[in-house]
Amino acid sequence: MKQGIIGIDIGGTKISVSLGTRKGKILAKKVFSSGNGKRVKDSIERIESSVSSLLSECRFKKQQLAGIGVAVPGVIHPHSQVIQKSPNLPSWEGFPLRSVLMRRFKLPVIIENDANAAALGEQYFGSGRSVRDFLYLTVSTGIGGGIVANGALIRGEGGMAGEVGHMTLVKNGLRCHCGKRGCLEAYSSGTAIAGHVKRALKAGAKSNYFKNIKLSKITGQLVSEAARVRDTVAIQARRLAADYLGMGLANLINLLNPKRIILGGGVMENVDHFWQPMMKAVRQEAWPMALRSCRIMRSKLRKNVGDLGAMALILDSQK
Ligand SMILES: [Zn+2]
Repeated sequence: MKQGIIGIDIGGTKISVSLGTRKGKILAKKVFSSGNGKRVKDSIERIESSVSSLLSECRFKKQQLAGIGVAVPGVIHPHSQVIQKSPNLPSWEGFPLRSVLMRRFKLPVIIENDANAAALGEQYFGSGRSVRDFLYLTVSTGIGGGIVANGALIRGEGGMAGEVGHMTLVKNGLRCHCGKRGCLEAYSSGTAIAGHVKRALKAGAKSNYFKNIKLSKITGQLVSEAARVRDTVAIQARRLAADYLGMGLANLINLLNPKRIILGGGVMENVDHFWQPMMKAVRQEAWPMALRSCRIMRSKLRKNVGDLGAMALILDSQK
């Protein structure tokens, strides 16, 4: 059996290329800047040279590889596998990534949306193992999701299933990056948490932590640090975001009756002043019978979920 898999995780700021085993052990990894996604040709060359050096470092031959899985932040057409829409990597839209990599490596290549790939990463290597119905959500700069139902990833007609960040929670609510108003992402992402703090400060809220910090420098990460030292404005912003996330999770529980919800992404790295209000909202809004059989937990794959998700694409395509 071909033992090795290449996983490529293409992000808005960096690209990670890893060589791993079918059991999800990452043997070696190369990470480099994606140049904000502008120089697609340069990135392809770096990907090609990374694969070659990973193979020689790990003393692997190309013939021992089962394939190359690629996770991309955007909408991937389920049949043509072309990147149709990617707000973070607009230069990659329409680029025939799959055929370019297949021609170069003469190996099977699978391309998938990054949150969908991460859900498969959980299914093959993480907390989704032997669970037929579960959801993976990444709560980071934005909010993405992947739905596994009856043991299979739900892609939808055009590859857009699982976009849980854009379910509407508030009619005419806060503006979202997608152009809509009132999306979950506009209330509960890391960017949204920073936004809650900025709005409070503009409205005159007093904070010792933020008083000498420019509004443009406030990030979700900074708010998390401020909450850790008990800054009230930061704590309130996190509680607000958590409350809406809980409402979103409850809607998903009522819709899909999952056995598990696995939460990953930067916001989930520190859940102080977040987990409790989130669970309170879940208990308020979820149908109790569906909630009883659902476990909400943090991802154990953490920062490797992108690489492992890309690798899982190959296993999933061979099942
Ligand atoms: Zn939206």
